[in-house]
Amino acid sequence: VEVTARVTTLRLRETFRISYLVQDTADVVHVAVAHAQATGYGEAAPFERYGESAESARAFVEEVAPSLPDDPFAFAEVEAILAERPGELAAKAAIDAALHDLQGKLLGQPTWRLLGLRRAGPPSCYTIGMGDPDEMARKTQRVPGDFRRLKLKLGGKDGLDVERVRAVRGAVSCPLQVDANEGWTVDEALDVLPELQSLGVEYCEQPLPAGDPGGAQLRARSPLPIYVDEDCHLLSSVATCAEVANGINIKLAKSGGIREAIRMANAARALGLGVMLGCMVESGLGISAAAQIGSLCDFLDLDGNLLIADDPWPGVELVDGVQLPPDRPGLGVG
Ligand SMILES: [Mg+2]
Repeated sequence: VEVTARVTTLRLRETFRISYLVQDTADVVHVAVAHAQATGYGEAAPFERYGESAESARAFVEEVAPSLPDDPFAFAEVEAILAERPGELAAKAAIDAALHDLQGKLLGQPTWRLLGLRRAGPPSCYTIGMGDPDEMARKTQRVPGDFRRLKLKLGGKDGLDVERVRAVRGAVSCPLQVDANEGWTVDEALDVLPELQSLGVEYCEQPLPAGDPGGAQLRARSPLPIYVDEDCHLLSSVATCAEVANGINIKLAKSGGIREAIRMANAARALGLGVMLGCMVESGLGISAAAQIGSLCDFLDLDGNLLIADDPWPGVELVDGVQLPPDRPGLGVG
């Protein structure tokens, strides 16, 4: 196999703000793996929070490329080689995605089909970045496509989080979920969550800082289901998540790819946890990789390709609010 990687800047449709980050652009890495006249593509959307950057992801892919086996179906061997090197999970996810894409192209089958899954999934939410309450309510009028549910970014540390949800609730009637991105203490969460429940919010993502010792107490007392994201990384973190949450938010950029994501979904089911699949700001290439396993999940947050201005990898179809993976070989977008 021949592996190449290049950094690309994605431009957002509008400035995106969460509790610990503001962004207008996102640098991602596009990885290509060529073998026998076919080329598979994968995208790395690195997490700055975990010390990753587009440059570190690109360097990782180039460094590990000569060690990869020549057989594009040798996933166990690939995973063993990648596991010897710590971190850089977005880069690992890009290699995993490119190999899935390549396998599908070599066999003439969509990845979801090779995985034995369905071309289906629950409706995806569309994310409204954090802003003033009025501003967030206005943003609901500019949601692209036909998204049927919204996710509101909270954790403003300004006492306005309930007002943010109230303003949006006054503007739309669709299902709502919220993500505090580690923005609250246990006491703040216990103040806010009952009010959010009365406004019809369905669940709350990552209310507390990752590893907060109050997690189990909050889950026991919260009127809303708690899903953890910043607390949830690899398969090895799922059992701990079951102590503090009702569900987990898997992202390919955290799990290192589709294979570990499937193992995490299975572990979550065994522990009685709900399963959500989220994304970063990423193009249709990254979103297609995630959408391939959407049918395994209860909730999807796969809006990254619609948060950016010009998707260089079109092909994921938004149908009745569901982000459907393409019905073409591999990931089906390039
Ligand atoms: Mg989140």
